[in-house]
Amino acid sequence: QTETFLNGSPKKNLVILGTGWGSVSLLKNLDTSEYNVTVVSPRNYFLFTPLLPCIPVGTVNNKSIVEPIRAIMRRTKGVVNYLEAEATDIDPVDRKIQIKVMSGNEIRDISYDYLVLGIGAQSTTFNIPGVYENAFFMKEISDAERIRSKFVENIEKASLLERGDPERRRLLSFVVVGGGPTGVEFAAELRDYIDQDLKKWVPEISSEAQVSLIEALPNILNMFDKRLVDYTEQTVTKANIDLRLNHMVKEVNKDSISANVKGEKVEIPFGLLVWATGNAPMDLSVKLMNSLAAQTEKRGLLINEKLQLLGAEDSIFALGDCTFHKGLFPTAQVAHQEGEYLARMFKELSKIDQLKWELNEAVGNPKVIKKLNFKITRLNAQIKDFHYRHMGTLAYIGADKAVVDVQLRNKRYSLQGSPFAFWFWRSAYLSMCISIRTRILVTLDWIKIFFLGRDSSV
Ligand code: NAD
Repeated sequence: QTETFLNGSPKKNLVILGTGWGSVSLLKNLDTSEYNVTVVSPRNYFLFTPLLPCIPVGTVNNKSIVEPIRAIMRRTKGVVNYLEAEATDIDPVDRKIQIKVMSGNEIRDISYDYLVLGIGAQSTTFNIPGVYENAFFMKEISDAERIRSKFVENIEKASLLERGDPERRRLLSFVVVGGGPTGVEFAAELRDYIDQDLKKWVPEISSEAQVSLIEALPNILNMFDKRLVDYTEQTVTKANIDLRLNHMVKEVNKDSISANVKGEKVEIPFGLLVWATGNAPMDLSVKLMNSLAAQTEKRGLLINEKLQLLGAEDSIFALGDCTFHKGLFPTAQVAHQEGEYLARMFKELSKIDQLKWELNEAVGNPKVIKKLNFKITRLNAQIKDFHYRHMGTLAYIGADKAVVDVQLRNKRYSLQGSPFAFWFWRSAYLSMCISIRTRILVTLDWIKIFFLGRDSSV
């Protein structure tokens, strides 16, 4: 049974949308006994996205990087409700959201006093024709599983064809578009799998399999230090990844992509195409942008320094990849820190709301009203702006090598290669895992592949 009063005043309804980095960081740090907390998300688990590119090739098992939302909820101080549903509309005036329940598609309205948007983003296609129809994305566990099935299917189909058959060559062409961390890490994982595991089981196929990484700009991993970018480009090329820089993909067909290279059209056939060209706002974010005049940015929701949504500052907050910050990348690190910040902010808001309630009860008592107003102003002034502390950026680049760009006391340090950078990368990811359970499972997966290799079945 939920306790709906806090020190005599009614608890506020706090609705959190999403179960990604921002929302879960908020939930873990929030004093949930101070609010009626409801989490709404179509996904009933948290996904440790940094290790998602490992899933299609089985370096890590999919169950090892997810944590059920109910396990996270149970570890909080108060009672939290979870609804497996997708928010389809928001009414900031009446403070209501419309949700579509995942099982049965029932539509319901729920009211909120405070709403937190942690709804993430979707893969962008820049409206390039043919992407949705022919490419795979790398956002969710289901995407990774689909990529794995297609990859294994292509290998089996290719092994039925004669050597030299152009169709066999096409089936074994694995193309990744987008040289950001997602594209680089996935191309690296794929190459590792082909060189370390497929080579043992089907050597003739592994020698023909080709991994291509296509990037529109002159460099990959553009958020990294230039030295690390150069090192990564040399390393992936040495590892036999066909790196194509300055290739702007313009069209995707059933079996090939068409890219513009310095004014020339280049056709690249593929058997599997993975599309990783960054983020676009979710449909719900677009609806909000269109309905609030203060939302003038198309790339994401605009918020102020206290993470309040412009146009609905008194009741809606937004964090993580659904927002647009100038100078901040949409990363797990940013969303995580924003979640921690909001948890502290809600602690203060709960005190302010109690005082406001006391203020209502104190009608006709000017002395008490004055005292309470003073306290409210002081508490409001104590809420500091959000400041992001950049700790660094890491990426796995294949063959047990990683690039690490860390920031310590305002100084930037770079590490590259192996074994130190690689072990630093692994330790950092392990420490970022959400629970001891996921840490143990990921470690066991790494030990397992060290001794037994990766699994090649679907
Ligand atoms: P990204 O935005 O970082 O990179 C996308 C790349 O695709 C860009 O280099 C862009 O030039 C290229 N591109 C765009 N259109 C193209 C086209 N038509 N043809 C060819 N290339 C094209 O995207 P991401 O890797 O999906 O990452 C999304 C966000 O998540 C980023 O902010 C990233 O920093 C973050 N992230 C970080 C890590 C990490 O730190 N290890 C891992 C994954 C994601």
